[in-house]
Amino acid sequence: MADYDIVIVGGGPAGVGAAVAAAKNGLKTAVVERHSMLGGNWTSGYVLSILGMYTYDGTEKIVGGVADEIVENLKAYKGTNGQSHNFIPFRPDELKLSLDSIVKKYGIDVYINSLTTGAKVEKGHGVSITIEGKAGQKSVGSKMFVDSSGDADMSYFCTRNAIEGKEGEGWHQEATLPFRLGGVDEKRVISFAGKRKDLVSVVLNGDRIERLRVLPPLVEKAKTERRLYLPNSNSEFLFNTVRPGEFVCNATHVKIADFKDALEISKALHDLRHQAVSSLNFLIDEVEGFENAYLIDSAPSIGLRETRRAIGEYVLTRSDVLGNRRFDDAIARCGHPLEIHDPVKGVVYEHLSGGDNSWYHIPYGSIVVKGVDNLFVIGRCLSAEFDAQASARVTGTAMAMGHAAAVAASIAISKSTTAKGVPVKELQEKLKEQGAII
Ligand SMILES: Cc1cc2nc3c(=O)[nH]c(=O)nc-3n(C[C@H](O)[C@H](O)[C@H](O)COP(=O)(O)OP(=O)(O)OC[C@H]3O[C@@H](n4cnc5c(N)ncnc54)[C@H](O)[C@@H]3O)c2cc1C
Repeated sequence: MADYDIVIVGGGPAGVGAAVAAAKNGLKTAVVERHSMLGGNWTSGYVLSILGMYTYDGTEKIVGGVADEIVENLKAYKGTNGQSHNFIPFRPDELKLSLDSIVKKYGIDVYINSLTTGAKVEKGHGVSITIEGKAGQKSVGSKMFVDSSGDADMSYFCTRNAIEGKEGEGWHQEATLPFRLGGVDEKRVISFAGKRKDLVSVVLNGDRIERLRVLPPLVEKAKTERRLYLPNSNSEFLFNTVRPGEFVCNATHVKIADFKDALEISKALHDLRHQAVSSLNFLIDEVEGFENAYLIDSAPSIGLRETRRAIGEYVLTRSDVLGNRRFDDAIARCGHPLEIHDPVKGVVYEHLSGGDNSWYHIPYGSIVVKGVDNLFVIGRCLSAEFDAQASARVTGTAMAMGHAAAVAASIAISKSTTAKGVPVKELQEKLKEQGAII
């Protein structure tokens, strides 16, 4: 007999969305997470914000359901004040606490500090996964599985088939190590930006800075004069973190050839930490208002935007995204542009043809893994082309995919059918009843 109804590999935004929704739908649920915290890139990678809950211009809400509950719980822990333009800023530690509380509330088993290293598949049916930790190896069986590892680990272990990087070329988006800084005098920064529009731009939310960009002329000059070590960026972006005077910065960038190569990641982290400290010192020296700024911390783990993607029943394409495609088997909406941190061209955005107030559908086929009848894939390793993933990976959308996978799993179990056999209309109706926006 299976240990669980559903086992979710990876406790990031997608996995947490799936776990909460699964437990709320009555499934005996477990999450396996290799780090010491839930939240994935939110809490281990210090990504700047929750994007994807709204259209890119911030005018329409396009994700609801379980994602709303996660955000409301975060508010209760004072980890966010909610929407700021098109994103939701947050503080990572409050988010860790709020996620702990929500999994406890719903009785979800969390195998923390546990790496999933293998899977047992019989005749195209997932039976169990192997997890490894201080107690050695353990097998965990389940009726349904969800791969929310970000790296398509489970899908790869089951099928030995996945796509890494840009099709035909193999390169990856650059990695970043965000860092947090405090002690910024926002009033002085706003006044400096008013005087030196050529050097610094700010977007305000009331009397607070929502986001700040140190522009290429200032950055390039400091780099040329060797006062700034930032080899792969020509500007610095900082976003507020809820607390006055505190920002998170995503200026650092490094090329990644193989995300599985421990020695390469080790060198990359070393370089990224060097970039972070150099960036902070540069801000202190060059931008009025940063004189008393200090490093709070850098992210616990490297921020990987894109690594390996599963192959599903459908592969979401670049033209689906840019063309605002609607699908009959829709399970979620996404309005984020293509955002590619290209190692040669820098950060490149391509906006949806319908405009920044528009969205496209995530289809059910792109979260159902081909060749394994009880496995879903969600979040940044969904079944999508490289370019499409560069849009669909944002964390609001990841939670929405998690909600859909969990409800689909509950239907599959109740009807004794496969992931592919789930009646999509019933799935859509249930999702809508639970507040999801399709
Ligand atoms: C620098 C940076 C900035 C970004 N900025 C934003 C932003 O501002 N807003 C936004 O919405 N998105 C942003 N993104 C994108 C976003 O962070 C990811 O796409 C998002 O985290 C996707 O969620 P996920 O749950 O699919 O994956 P992840 O967040 O990567 O979570 C995967 C989880 O699985 C765990 N895991 C992996 N392998 C295993 C295994 N074998 N066994 C057990 N556990 C495993 C990981 O530890 C992790 O907790 C940014 C990304 C980066 C790197």
